[in-house]
Amino acid sequence: MAKEVYDVAIIGGGPAGMTAGIYAGRGHLRACILEGMSTGGQMFNTAVIENYPGYDSIDGPGLTQAMEEQVRKWDVDILYKHVTGLKRQTDVFEVELLGGEAVQAKTVILASGSKPRKLEVPGEAEYQGRGVSYCATCDGAFFRGKNVAVIGGGDSAVEESLYLTRFVNKVTIIHRRDQLRASKHLQERAFADPKIEFMWDSVVEAIEGQQTVEQLQVKNVKTGTVTSLPVDGVFIYIGMFPNTGFLQGIVELDQWGYVVAGEDTATSEPGIFAAGDIRAKELRQIVTAVADGAVAAMAAERYLSERGL
Ligand code: NAP
Repeated sequence: MAKEVYDVAIIGGGPAGMTAGIYAGRGHLRACILEGMSTGGQMFNTAVIENYPGYDSIDGPGLTQAMEEQVRKWDVDILYKHVTGLKRQTDVFEVELLGGEAVQAKTVILASGSKPRKLEVPGEAEYQGRGVSYCATCDGAFFRGKNVAVIGGGDSAVEESLYLTRFVNKVTIIHRRDQLRASKHLQERAFADPKIEFMWDSVVEAIEGQQTVEQLQVKNVKTGTVTSLPVDGVFIYIGMFPNTGFLQGIVELDQWGYVVAGEDTATSEPGIFAAGDIRAKELRQIVTAVADGAVAAMAAERYLSERGL
């Protein structure tokens, strides 16, 4: 691996990281993107994207490829390395990589995103993108006039159920207890909505269908009875995991593990910026991730020029 000190090391190659790369490259910063898997992040696994301006409809791999080609037009190194740690040395950051290697950089942009918690039941992986979704904002419009289930009882499950009522015929919220965790005002709205029904004390045991999802096997945890619920789609909202395990004690994280940073993407540690889903914020979408990526790269450039680095 090259021994050079990068101007900016971008951790994560999703839409936030790739946009940060484009802006850094255009700003003549020496930048690298460190990506443990393949570029695109959650976007890569999205079947159809209809809410990214400029594309009436594009699949996740297609938009990933378009962004990656744009990154590669600039002098940005894409290194397929898994980041395990981050340390500030005197005047540079050391980004530690799996296998003991490290990259040095004057600034760091955290863009390693988050991932949805999985139910881990039969059919979940098989039907992802064919009726199983973790994003109502992304996929809700594909279920116009259909019946769907939402799994979970937190703010996300209830908020996204309310959003889904714009399109679908009926939403059944399946929750493992008999009380929602969601905030009271969301609960009141959901209870008052004629399109939302509830299956209490219930867990999904299997997701079944032919080409796409057709039904769920749902077990009542109090009675043990298993019933078959016919649905065209299932939205799973049982929590997210921000990919911030390597950042404990490095930057301030909120109580859910997201990086605390405002719209300026500045974290609690000068020279470290946070962009995309990893950041504590309201709306996690490709468009908000790319916006963060641009802001973070410009902030890194300003940080370097103000210090003459
Ligand atoms: P959450 O609050 O952790 O809720 C997860 C829900 O999924 C809980 O109801 C939990 O059940 C259920 N669950 C967890 N594991 C499960 C499993 N294996 N099988 C079935 N159900 C399972 O997650 P979230 O809704 O994504 O919200 C995350 C945080 O972001 C929350 O603190 C929330 O307040 C915040 N948030 C805020 C807003 C807003 O203010 N507008 C919107 C979205 C999220 P139990 O209740 O039984 O534990």
